[in-house]
Formats: sequence, structure tokens, C-alpha cells
Amino acid sequence: MKKITGIPLLDINNHIIGKITYKPIKHSLRQDFIFVANGEKLESGYAAILVTKRNRDPKGTTILCNLEDIKYLNTGDVVSIEPNGNINVLYKKNSVGNVLLVTERCNCSCIMCPQSLVTKEDDKSPFIFKIISLIDNNTQLLGITGGEPTLIGDKLIDIITACKQRLPKTKLIMLTNGIKLENFDYVKKIVMVQHPDLTIDIPLYADTDTEHNNIIGANGFYKTIQGLYNLARFKQKIGIRIVIHKLNYKRLPQLAEFIYHNFPFVFHIAFMQMETMEVAKKNIDILWIDPYDYNEQLEKAVTYLWKRGMNVSIYNAQLCVLPKNLWRYTRKSISSWKNIYLEECGKCDYLENCGGFFASSLELHSQHIEIIKKN
Ligand code: SF4
Repeated sequence: MKKITGIPLLDINNHIIGKITYKPIKHSLRQDFIFVANGEKLESGYAAILVTKRNRDPKGTTILCNLEDIKYLNTGDVVSIEPNGNINVLYKKNSVGNVLLVTERCNCSCIMCPQSLVTKEDDKSPFIFKIISLIDNNTQLLGITGGEPTLIGDKLIDIITACKQRLPKTKLIMLTNGIKLENFDYVKKIVMVQHPDLTIDIPLYADTDTEHNNIIGANGFYKTIQGLYNLARFKQKIGIRIVIHKLNYKRLPQLAEFIYHNFPFVFHIAFMQMETMEVAKKNIDILWIDPYDYNEQLEKAVTYLWKRGMNVSIYNAQLCVLPKNLWRYTRKSISSWKNIYLEECGKCDYLENCGGFFASSLELHSQHIEIIKKN
């Protein structure tokens, strides 16, 4: 989530959520809008007003921002404003990488988690319902993520239902560790929402319980597997995700075989380069392997699944690091607000096709980055 620093010109008591507009809105509809003023006379009724110059009379909640930050915001984006004036960009209208972060709690403590998690938090669901009410109903794709989304229990069912009602054309991808999906009745409730386009993506990091449980820091392997089978009984669309690092790269071919033999019903399998943030950054010495150095295992795993008719992708990878025969499996998968390229990438003929890097990879990335020329 991108953050913009703002300075409140009047005191703010509570978080404000609103949709960005650059055009004045009818007074009766203003309460859900945050108006970006561009020299106009400031009018009341908006959830907040963003300005770039201090020499204005504040009308209601007015936040002073710098011009570069304001330029990042487009009409239809949804933001929240904290009492200290910081602006969190919750939804970008022109992005396909939007997610609803429904909780920051988790029942695992994965060794390569790129997030900081909490043990206690207030119910986020009113906030989530508000975001759903504000986002554009032509949005193509929306993620549901956490922490672990299933920890909010039936509130998750309500959120999926709200998405179905308010955003019926929007494809939903929910990322869960699958442990709570061991409960058949809970899975039944999720499926019974009958969302028209819901995919449930579940990580599986190894083909053995010891390795997988060691990576997730919990006794979850068999529960996740039961969760996969519960979803399959309802013909739910399922994806499997594998983040690759030093602890699991050697058995990628065996993991591919395990997936093919036990979960032939899954819709998609994604092998993913690791994001080196937060917990992953702290554990970097035990996790880091140059992605170039696991190409042999990745190639075996990907081609094994592809030859058996399975839908397989490689996420978060740079083309120059991969053998050319794996390029066809790559997807541009990094959310736009944290997707960067190195300076030398500007001279690469394949920049447009390449997934690039996480912003955190500036500090640590493959030693095999090299521009590629077409001729
Ligand atoms: S040089 Fe940069 S743009 Fe080109 S393939 Fe490598 S990472 Fe991608």
C-alpha cells in the first residue's frame, strides 16, 4: 500500500475514507469524496480536501500535500487519511493489483513473510465494506489477503458476499494458507456465496510435512491438504503458490510431482521469486539464493507440470535471469506501486515484457541481471 505524507491544516479525530475527485461534486454526494483542489474556491461537504499550498482558508478537513504525491492520485482512487495527515492509497482505479487487506493477523509465522503482522487488532470489516462501496464497479480484479483472511471467520463470508453484490463483474483472488479450510462447514459457507469468479490461492512450499511446516512455522501441512480437498469437493477454482528460497528449491521437481499426483484438479500453479521484506529480510542469510542458481530445479518443475497439461506460471522473475524456454511462463505479477526496474533495464529491449523487481530488490537481487538486445 503506497503512503503519501500530508499535513492536516485542521485537527482530524478519526480515519477518513474517500474517493478521489478532481472535479467538484454535487453537495449531496460529497461526503464520500476527497476533493483535490487546483486553485478553486474551497467548498464544504467533502470527506476531505487535498491542497498543495498553505495560503488557503481551510474548509473542514484540509490536508496539505506536495505536488508530486498528489499527481500519484487519480480520479476514482480510494484513500484513507490518518489523523496525522498520512494518506494510504487503498485502491488505484487504473491498476490490476488492488487488494483488500482484511486482517493483519496470521496463524502461521512464515520464515519468508514479507509483511509485519499483529497479534491483536480491531475489526477491520466496516472499513473493508466502505472500501468495497467506493471502488469502481468495472474493476477487473481484486485480491483478498491478509495476514490470514480466514481468521476473521464469517466476516470473510460477508466480505465475499459484498463483493458479489457490489462488484459482480470483478474477478476475486483470495490468498489463504488453507489451514482453516480444513473445516468442511466453513468451506461450504464460502462456496455457497456462489461468487461468479472466485479463485482461492493456497501456498504449498514443499512435498513433505517437515519441510512445509518448518517454513510456515506451524503444524499446517495436513490441514492445508485437507483444505485443498474440501475445496475440490465443491469444484472450487483453486491455485497453488510456491515461494522459492534456499530451504525449498532443491525439491521443486518433487513438489511438482506431488502436486500433479495429488491435486490434478487445481486450476493454476505459480512459482514465485521471494520478496525480501520484513521477516524475509531478517532471515535473509538462511533464505537467500540467487534465483539464477535454482533455474535447473525450476525448469524441471515447470516443464513437468506443463507437459501434463497443467496451467503453470512464474511470478516476480526477471527475463535475463531465466533460460529462454521459461520466458513463456512468466507473468507481470508485481503490484504496480512496488514494481521497479534497475537503471540498466532502461537499455534492455525486453523491458516491456519483463516483470522487473520488487522495490525491496534494489538492495538484493540476482547477480545475473544483464540487458538483452533483440539483434
Ligand atoms: S535487464 Fe532488466 S528489463 Fe531486461 S530482462 Fe533483465 S531485469 Fe528485465
